[in-house]
Amino acid sequence: MEQKSKAAVCREIGKPVVVEEILVEAPRRGELMIKLSTCGVCHSDLSATNIPFPPPVVLGHEGAGVVVAVGEGVSDYAVGDHVVSSFISMCDKCRYCQTGRPQLCDQAARAAAPLPDGTVRTRDLAGNPLSVFSGCGVMAEYATLHADNVVKIDQQMPLDRAALIGCGGVGLSAIQGCHIAGARMIVAVDTSDAKLEMARQFGAAHTLNSRNEENPAKALLKLTGGADFAFECEGSGEVVALAYGVLGKGGTAVVVGVTNPKDTTSIRTASLTFGEKTLTGSYFGWARPRQDFPRLIGLYRAGRLKLDELITRTYSIDEAPQAFEDMQAGCNARGVIFF
Ligand SMILES: [Zn+2]
Ligand SMILES: [Zn+2]
Repeated sequence: MEQKSKAAVCREIGKPVVVEEILVEAPRRGELMIKLSTCGVCHSDLSATNIPFPPPVVLGHEGAGVVVAVGEGVSDYAVGDHVVSSFISMCDKCRYCQTGRPQLCDQAARAAAPLPDGTVRTRDLAGNPLSVFSGCGVMAEYATLHADNVVKIDQQMPLDRAALIGCGGVGLSAIQGCHIAGARMIVAVDTSDAKLEMARQFGAAHTLNSRNEENPAKALLKLTGGADFAFECEGSGEVVALAYGVLGKGGTAVVVGVTNPKDTTSIRTASLTFGEKTLTGSYFGWARPRQDFPRLIGLYRAGRLKLDELITRTYSIDEAPQAFEDMQAGCNARGVIFF
């Protein structure tokens, strides 16, 4: 039951994404095939076109769709189930999965470009294999994934909104998280006034354009009196230092952005002891997809999590290159591809 499928593919590092027809094989043992309904367009997909990630690769990791075929040995899913893809693979067996930290699953590193068994179900029309980004490759009409990269969701949840549960607008989502957690004061920092305006709509009562400040850390310390938490969502050593620098005593700086592997920063180490400060990282928002995705859907349905507002523009799969251009230009909170 092989499917011909239009897909967004990175053919060459640093070159624009192309849309082409590919072949998606039927699921093997432990796998399932999804007919995609929507897929979010994310900076991580763009990163895959800029870093030495082995091309050609089918992009997309924020997909939502319906199961159309299940492989041997899959008992938790059936044809017709609604599912979202997970950027991380969850084996349920390694010590990280077993201790509630599936975002650090040992299998995820093996399932970064192929499926967990090291092979792929995707080929181009000439018969050459295509990698799949993050074990997903869901920026395509059909995708065959391992069940460890999939989470079942409530059928009542609109699939275009569900696609954003798996990632979606990291900075704005951090602001929403603070809001839901009941933060006393939320301050958004960016260099773009348009982004700061969006931040206000998502729950930031205060904003600061760091371009207009000679010393952003000083301005933030004055405004907040020292932050309890600071989230770095940019992916830059310099911003990591800023996040740590604005903490008050007992504060925690959380690095969410993915910095360049060669990026470094320095901090005054005495403040770790005297101020009891913490500098830590968060991969995939510390999410445990099988527990947290349904929880986020509950928050959305209760009107506490804004997802509708995240979708600035929708695209067809043929318009995928435009969606990447718009993302690079910073036009969208989120672009979503509809199939
Ligand atoms: Zn694991
Ligand atoms: Zn993403």
